[in-house]
Order: sequence, then C-alpha cells, then structure tokens
Amino acid sequence: MRASLSLSITASFSCSRFFFSSLHISASPSMASNSLVWFRKGLRIHDNPALDHARRDSNHVYPVFILDPHYLEPDPTAFSLGSSRSGLNRIQFLLESLNDLDSSLRKLGSRLLLFRGDPIEVLIRLLKEWRIKKLCFEFDTEPYYQSLDNQVKDYASEAGIEVFSPVSHTLFNPADIIHKNGGRPPLSYQSFVKLAGQPPPPLSTEISLLPPVGNVGNFEVLGVPSIKELGYDDIRQDDVSPFRGGESEALKRLRLSLSDKEWVANFEKPKGDPSAFLKPATTVLSPYLKFGCLSSRYFYQCLQDVYKTVKKHTSPPVSLVGQLLWRDFFYCVAFGTPNFDKMKGNRVCKQIPWNDDDELLVAWREGQTGYPWIDAIMIQLKKWGWMHHLARHCVACFLTRGDLFVHWERGRDVFERLLIDSDWAINNGNWLWLSCSSFFYQYNRIYSPTSFGKKYDPDGNYIRHFLPVLKVVAHDTASKECKRRIAEAYELNRKMGGSVTGEDLKGLRRKLEGDQHKTSKLWGKKQKLIS
Ligand code: FAD
Repeated sequence: MRASLSLSITASFSCSRFFFSSLHISASPSMASNSLVWFRKGLRIHDNPALDHARRDSNHVYPVFILDPHYLEPDPTAFSLGSSRSGLNRIQFLLESLNDLDSSLRKLGSRLLLFRGDPIEVLIRLLKEWRIKKLCFEFDTEPYYQSLDNQVKDYASEAGIEVFSPVSHTLFNPADIIHKNGGRPPLSYQSFVKLAGQPPPPLSTEISLLPPVGNVGNFEVLGVPSIKELGYDDIRQDDVSPFRGGESEALKRLRLSLSDKEWVANFEKPKGDPSAFLKPATTVLSPYLKFGCLSSRYFYQCLQDVYKTVKKHTSPPVSLVGQLLWRDFFYCVAFGTPNFDKMKGNRVCKQIPWNDDDELLVAWREGQTGYPWIDAIMIQLKKWGWMHHLARHCVACFLTRGDLFVHWERGRDVFERLLIDSDWAINNGNWLWLSCSSFFYQYNRIYSPTSFGKKYDPDGNYIRHFLPVLKVVAHDTASKECKRRIAEAYELNRKMGGSVTGEDLKGLRRKLEGDQHKTSKLWGKKQKLIS
C-alpha cells in the first residue's frame, strides 16, 4: 500500500491535534518531532519503556517492524518446514504476535508499519526519509542484535538522532550485575541472586492513546503476511503448535495461571509431570517471554501480588519467581561470556571430545532412537515447538553425555530451530548445563531413557499421543485381540485332538485375518510392523 502524501498529512494533522488536546499539552511547533519505535522482541504495549519514551513530546510516532527474509523465507534445504533460521511454528507465532500488536496499536490510534529487507538498510532509509529525531528500541543482549544495534547507534549519532535503548526484556540489567561482580558474570545461581536484589517494577503508566503515524512517503508499508503469503503451502493441521502468539494471549495465559493461587504458591520445579500435555504442568509462558509479548517484570510483580495473599509460598530456585531468576541468570552469564554459544573459546565450557555423528543426530532429531520416551519428546518438539523442562532434560542428556555422545552444539541447533520459545541465552545455557559442559558437573547422574519416562507416564498416554506409530500397540486393544486369537487356536487344538496340520493353521489365520479387517485396523498395522 502506498500512502498518498496529502491524505496522510491531513489525517495525521487532525489526529495529532486530538492527541495533544486530549493530554492537555500544547503542541508548540518547536516540540514537533518524529519518533520511531523499532520493534524486534518486546512485542507488547504494557511495560514497554521504548514505546513510552517515543510517545513523549512527539507529534508522530512510527512503530516499525522489519521482516527479515533470512528469518522468514522458506528454506527447502532445511531439515524441517521453515526458513534457514526458524521452524514454521515459531514463524507462525511471530506473525500472530505481530497481528496482535498491530490491532492493539490501532486501538491507541496508531498502527504497525511493516517493511521487508535487511534491517539496517531499511531502518536507515526510514530514519532519513521521515526525519526522525528520536529512535527507541529495546536493548538486546544477543550478539546478533548487539552488532546490529551498534551499527544503528553509530549512524544515529552521526545524524544527530537521539537513541533510547532501555533494558526491558529482562528483570535486571546484566551489565549492572557483571559490574557489581567485578567485571565477570556470577557463575552460580546463588551468587547471581545475592547480587541481583530486587528488580525494578514495571512501568506504571498505561498508554491510552498514541501520537499518530506521520506521512510514510513513498515507502511500501506491508500488512502482516499470512504463512501462505510467505510461501508455505503444504502445512497440515497436525504440524501446527497449539500455542497462539501475541500479547493478548500472553496476558490471558498469565491471568489463567495466576488465578490458581494455591498452584502458584506451591509451584516447585523440578517437581511436576513432564508428560502432562493436555494441561501442562508449568505456565507455558516461555514463548511469550521470548518474543516479549509478556514483560518479565510484570510477570514478577503479579507473582509477588499473589504471594502477598497466601500464607506461605515456595521460594527460589524452585518457585515461579525462581524460574524468572533462572532466566535472568542465563542472560547475565551469556552477556558476559565471549563465545557463550560455542565449546571452543568459551572460558566457562569444559572441552570434551564429542562426536559429530550425523546418523545418531538424525535418529534423535527425527524421534527414531527406538526409545519411545525420547522419541515422543522429540516429536512433541517437532509438532508443538514446546516441551516440559524435564522432558528437555531427558533428550538433551540422551543426545550428549547420557547415550549418544553427540556434540551439544548440534542438539542446541535443533532446539534453536524448532522451539517456539527458542532463546539464545537460555537455550545455550541449558545445553551447557545438561551436557555437563558448564554449571553442573555430576556426569554420573543420568536420566534413564526408559524408567524415567515410565515413572511419569506409566500407561503410555503421552507416548502414544506423540508417537502415533505406537498406537498400534495400544495395550487394551492389542491384548484383547491376542487373547481372542489364542482362544481360537486352543479351540482348534482341542477339536483336532492335538494333531493340527499346516493347512489347518493356514485356514485359521485366514479366518482370523478376515475377522480382524472387520474389527480393528490397528491390528493390521501391528502385523505389518512385526513382520
Ligand atoms: P515455567 O516453569 O512456567 O517458568 C516460567 C518462566 O521461567 C519460563 O517461561 C522461562 O522464561 C523461565 N524459565 C523456566 N525454567 C528455566 C530455565 N531452566 N532456564 C531459564 N529460564 C527458565 N527456555 C526457553 O525459554 N528457551 C529456550 O530456548 C530453552 N531451551 C532449553 C534447552 C534445554 C536443553 C533445557 C533443558 C531447557 C531449556 N529451556 C529453554 C528452559 C525451560 O525448559 C523452559 O524455559 C521452560 O520449560 C518453559 O516452560 P514454561 O514457560 O512453562 O516454564
């Protein structure tokens, strides 16, 4: 869509008058300025300091998201449906989050402006064309964004543009904690918690109206594309994760979790059932925290509010607040450790001669190890992009130090691609942990790929749900069928007085298989597998 210059000037003029008069601020020409909010993560309105700062003293605010083709375009060579960087579930989650953000912005008199291309190139063009005076974006600790942000900051400082880049993705500013610790990140959770203290509260202001978007000039502003418009045609319903993206969904999910105060007060991890999938044993707020649809500070404050209303509650590291602190712990170590995502050159990582066996990796990745508990978890990852924390423990241990001795970086890559909550700091931190490369060193303690699963999933409900092939051995149906067959054979033996010929057996088999077609298709599948 190309906006006409005269139309958008008129529209924005009348909207901006409305905005300023409604806030009782006089709009003197000297105040007139254009601000740009660059959304990357932080896809929310609540507790969004970058958005909050952008709207102050601005006539126009341009909320921008840049679709990066590397992140979105189908990669036919990838091992699963998706782009070169991400599986389809996470792309879908992102698109839903963008749609939700756009509709929230529209309720505030604004809208999301989408562009496609190299983020730096696009952003610099927009800053120039729209004569932006103030650029606001959330601080990001990931190396990829660090390098992007430095380039943008360099340009902005040369062009005289104010940059506001607040820390709002985490509870704490990791740089502060590293500074308090003498320049290095604390390497244990306990020392991290001691240094961290209390996080700052979320913003208390609620935005009820935003300055309008100004003239967009000749730029082509895109709508949020559908997954089909991105070139993904062949998705089936069962490829899709049950978790929908967006701030509205995040807040709904948060409210639902917090409404059970007893549950919140007694939350204790690693207790909890990793095989619970209809009602997961944890909040499943991780994808919303990953994309910043939910503010971790707001989540933290809501938990404190619940704690105030109950007699007693669990504490870190096992409580829900403790989980948020784990998140910040990994962010802090990752930010302060060069090459955190590698074994080589990573000073906190033990050097171990892992193997690079592709066959083993593929068997693990595709859920074909032959261990139903492990395979079902990997299929849940593929289908849903989310698994319980202990389930992640089991498969990560199995791939690395438990059974296959495959390099943790290879497993990390698979998680990074497929998880909807895929998070650079947390994912690498946990792979380092599970492979006994860092943080945790008791390599004699492993998760059994059989008995651990049986403890939580004794009837195989989880396994059968995610490994439909094993539905062929649904115990109730299969054992009934076996008993029926043996009973018929016993009857034949009785009739023939013990002298059953080959021909008799053939006849019985034909009869049983005829009956079987009428009764159960499952049994036929099992026969095929057995033969
Ligand atoms: P809850 O138990 O409800 O916890 C609330 C929030 O606390 C989570 O949403 C998450 O943000 C944070 N949290 C919980 N556990 C951890 C943890 N161990 N470390 C850091 N933060 C935590 N989590 C991710 O968000 N992204 C990843 O890429 C990721 N990769 C992992 C890889 C491996 C090998 C393992 C073992 C764990 C990984 N985790 C990752 C951590 C954890 O499994 C998930 O955060 C959690 O299962 C998400 O579910 P939830 O939101 O219901 O968690």
